[in-house]
Amino acid sequence: MTLIQGYDARGQSRVIPVLTLTGASLDVHTEDADDPLTPGGCPGLPPCVTIRVVSALDLLVSRLPDGAVRTDAETLRERAIDSWTLALLRRVRGDELPAPAAVVFPASTEEVATVLAWASETATAVIPRGGGSGVCGGAEADAGSVVLDLARMNKIGQVDAVSQTVNVQAGVRGDQLEDALAGHGLTTGHYPQSIAMSTVGGWIAASSAGQASTGFGAIEDVLLGLTAVLPQGEILRCQPVPRSAAGPDLRRLLVGSEGTLAVITEATLACRARPAAWEWLAFGFATFSELAKALREAVRAETGAAVLRGYDETDAQLGFGALGHPGGCVGMAGFPAGLPGLDARKQAVAEAMRKNGASGELGARYGEHWWEHRNDAVRTYAQIMGPERAFGSGMIVDTMEVAGLWSTVPRLYQDIREALAGHAQAVGCHLSHLYPSGSSLYFTFLISGADDQEAEARYRAAWEAAARSCAATGGTITHHHGVGRLKARFLVDDLGETGVSVLTRIKAALDPAAIMNPQVMNPQVMNPQVMNPQVITGRRDAP
Ligand SMILES: Cc1cc2nc3c(=O)[nH]c(=O)nc-3n(C[C@H](O)[C@H](O)[C@H](O)COP(=O)(O)OP(=O)(O)OC[C@H]3O[C@@H](n4cnc5c(N)ncnc54)[C@H](O)[C@@H]3O)c2cc1C
Repeated sequence: MTLIQGYDARGQSRVIPVLTLTGASLDVHTEDADDPLTPGGCPGLPPCVTIRVVSALDLLVSRLPDGAVRTDAETLRERAIDSWTLALLRRVRGDELPAPAAVVFPASTEEVATVLAWASETATAVIPRGGGSGVCGGAEADAGSVVLDLARMNKIGQVDAVSQTVNVQAGVRGDQLEDALAGHGLTTGHYPQSIAMSTVGGWIAASSAGQASTGFGAIEDVLLGLTAVLPQGEILRCQPVPRSAAGPDLRRLLVGSEGTLAVITEATLACRARPAAWEWLAFGFATFSELAKALREAVRAETGAAVLRGYDETDAQLGFGALGHPGGCVGMAGFPAGLPGLDARKQAVAEAMRKNGASGELGARYGEHWWEHRNDAVRTYAQIMGPERAFGSGMIVDTMEVAGLWSTVPRLYQDIREALAGHAQAVGCHLSHLYPSGSSLYFTFLISGADDQEAEARYRAAWEAAARSCAATGGTITHHHGVGRLKARFLVDDLGETGVSVLTRIKAALDPAAIMNPQVMNPQVMNPQVMNPQVITGRRDAP
């Protein structure tokens, strides 16, 4: 019970006890018989008590501006899942999915603080949501939870032209941000394929990497400052600075936190001069190991190539079949046009490719074609996994993005490919985020079953085999998609028992009521049943 000091209509002080019960609040008012607030309260009797039952959700509605809380069926349904293959499959085949009790649309950091303070008070699970483009079940509702959708927090603040930075609210979508920066001749250089369906807050929370990350860095490299709301409603402000040694980096603590520690509400991002155009090189390779070696040497040549990509034979055919690709692997480099000494830079990449087994130059049209079609997969994915079911029922597609040191890349490629191929109809791979010490490996796999149930069983088996194989080879199970629900049970293979325990203790310290996205990255959730959302019941009471 909480005692609140209040004042009645005559300005007299009152103590109002508020009882918070499971999913509802009881406001117990002590009233005088002649209190104008309760005409006809208890005439002729001594002061009496009136009890008004207020649902937790009503309490939230009363604390926010009109229209901020929505409970209509369509809104609840739309925000119940993200873009995880398994969730899309279950929706399209008509499974009953856990639904949130409400979707809240805050417009400011203060409103987010109001929501989280309320959620901690009422022990209601909160699922932060950006664009819902996450592919691991990170923004999926628990039954009875509240989805906190940042769509209204879409303001782009002033550009600091001297520092080349931009301050934005967390719900700003990537394409809107880039359109706004183009007017200043700037770019963040952060171009995930999902740029038109993902948000700045989602990028930070899911530890995103864009297609030009080799040159511009991933989200942590452009993140200078942020504002976030902690689970009990406190506001954390990390001022924008290029680097800081003031203790462990709190900005990095929230990178990849997937809504389990805080809600990110604002960010300051570093910008660069916007390339006016791109110049491309592409080479053919007979084998994946030659391709990997050539790309390793190309990234180490430090030529300023912002895009470096390598496709195995299957992915090369998918990506460049329309150009009449003759077969074999493809290595590609893209440079912002106008870089000083561009010819010499291109020459250095070409040398790295040729010395390491390139069978021939394929021409700039490979790069131009990729740039023009680089986001087509967004539509293809929706066509396969959405109501259209472009490949028919029983056919599903997913991706797995891992990373490892160059010394492990060939084995990661071979082992994970084999593990997936044991359950999938087709597997392709490309290297697209390169570092002097290693690379990401991005597998796309197509699962085919007699029906959707069989496809789901194969899908689960494919993930199990591939994730275990990745960990056994010394790779990390995720380079930029995060953990979500999908990979929670593999986390211990990646971080070890102690690493998982550190995460658990950080979570418990910041979020003692365990309200923040409780099923996500949850090391307790190691049970394979978690792959089935129908067995996940909200651990909190519905408001
Ligand atoms: C076709 C396709 C292509 C993709 N390509 C790429 C790619 O090139 N690179 C890449 O990195 N990813 C890619 N993704 C994955 C996805 O777009 C990223 O993970 C993206 O960062 C998610 O952003 P979002 O705004 O959609 O977040 P959501 O999906 O809404 O949420 C993702 C996670 O972050 C949490 N979250 C969201 N906003 C906040 C916030 N403000 N505060 C705290 N937590 C929050 C959610 O709870 C959830 O756990 C792709 C996805 C698809 C479907």
